[in-house]
Amino acid sequence: MSEYHPTIGLEIHAELKTRTKMFCDSLNDPDEKHPNVNVCPVCMGHPGTLPVPNRKAIEHVIKVGFALGGTPNARSRFDRKNYFYPDLPKAYQISQSGQPLVIGGTLKGVKINHIHLEEDAGKLMHDDAGADGNGSTLVDYNRASVPLMELVTEPDIHTAEDAVAFMKELQLILRYLGVSDADLERGQMRADANISVSPDGTLGTRAEVKNLNSFNSVFQAINYEIKRQTEILDKGETVHQETRGWDDAKQKSIPQRSKEEAQDYRYFPEPDIPPFETAILGLEALKDSIPELPEQKRERFVKEYGIDRKAADALAGDIALANYFEEAVSEFREEVPGGNISTIYNYLTSDLRGLMNATGTGFADLKVRPEHLAQLAIFIDQGKLTSRMAKDTLGNMFKTGADPEEIIKSESIGIGSEDEVEAVVLAVIAEHAAAVADYKKGKTASLQFLIGKAMGRLKGRARPDMLKEIFERHLTS
Ligand code: ADP
Ligand code: MG
Repeated sequence: MSEYHPTIGLEIHAELKTRTKMFCDSLNDPDEKHPNVNVCPVCMGHPGTLPVPNRKAIEHVIKVGFALGGTPNARSRFDRKNYFYPDLPKAYQISQSGQPLVIGGTLKGVKINHIHLEEDAGKLMHDDAGADGNGSTLVDYNRASVPLMELVTEPDIHTAEDAVAFMKELQLILRYLGVSDADLERGQMRADANISVSPDGTLGTRAEVKNLNSFNSVFQAINYEIKRQTEILDKGETVHQETRGWDDAKQKSIPQRSKEEAQDYRYFPEPDIPPFETAILGLEALKDSIPELPEQKRERFVKEYGIDRKAADALAGDIALANYFEEAVSEFREEVPGGNISTIYNYLTSDLRGLMNATGTGFADLKVRPEHLAQLAIFIDQGKLTSRMAKDTLGNMFKTGADPEEIIKSESIGIGSEDEVEAVVLAVIAEHAAAVADYKKGKTASLQFLIGKAMGRLKGRARPDMLKEIFERHLTS
């Protein structure tokens, strides 16, 4: 198989987080379980109704544009994209074609062509056995006309890995901006991947694989296409421009429409919504509202907390986690200026995360306060808790939300004082004369036996190294 130069361009859709739909006041509620309740004559496409654009949705797209270094188009307008499908009650989709909201920008070195705004379609539910017993399709219009952002990249990506990395970073940015939950599992983010290969630097003929709904399917579909097209070229044949679908079960792309069969959408300017100047949106204020973005956070975390890039990446990957970490660290540093914050990082990202994952607890309903995690880290730092005790205490904090100080007091956990430990050591020495004699004769294993006895009596509330040191002191004197 020859080596060709693969090129990929992505068209990424994301459902925007708004209270109401794109052109009416029906609710945009992705959690709604009952079908066809968030609908009205406008989003159901009844004749004579008029669409009114959702300002919030427009602002969301402009913000994404600013976050990616793009430019709001001075003038923007909506267009009609005409086609018939049962999930599209109007038989056209209001989209943008000639004058999208945002032009240009880059992300992870990939140039962005534009970002536009459109409305989502409803959901079709196919039932093989048939919801009515004979293989029917049901339509839920709750999603019809929910604001949908579409970002189109330049053909500027060259590997499946980079395509997925681009999508993941975009997903994170959308979450940071609070404009979309961008959850692929819930269909809130999906992508079409355009893929071509060429023997030289020129652009080859592309295939577009539509509706990829997981990072894994994006990755697999791109690699599948690269291989499929490479094999075609190797045989001396030509790749035909076409639209393909992705069969996740079979892990292969399947032809849907050739270029000749491509739909002509007959785009024309939406007559019911006048074109508008984006200046009316208050662009400066929108720009100023952009929060710290993931890459800025990673860089700041590395600098400010002295953690490595990988740790910074893990924290920045979840805003709630990053905020929690920062709160805990600031509490910790008040007590222990210049102290080692890796204890907080480790307990937060492994032990606490483990407890949260096991119980499906999110940060919103987490009982452990950041200041309490900081206090736990301080105790560990001061050598008052062994890691076993710290884990138990954290388990208790997770269940009850209690302050670790109180838990330690009420459960009398914690390392015994040196006096307490020494008293136990002396008692154990007095009670085990034979083991003591063995040890003095050179049987070092006896020391382990004695330490075990003392540890048992202290119920684990001692550090093994401290016990050993006190035993040795008394046994050699
Ligand atoms: P269309 O309007 O037919 O969808 P566009 O020119 O808008 O076509 O491109 C759609 C997507 O396809 C963009 O992401 C673009 O980067 C990508 N693309 C265009 N040509 C190629 C190519 N030869 N190989 C790979 N991707 C391509
Ligand atoms: Mg396209």
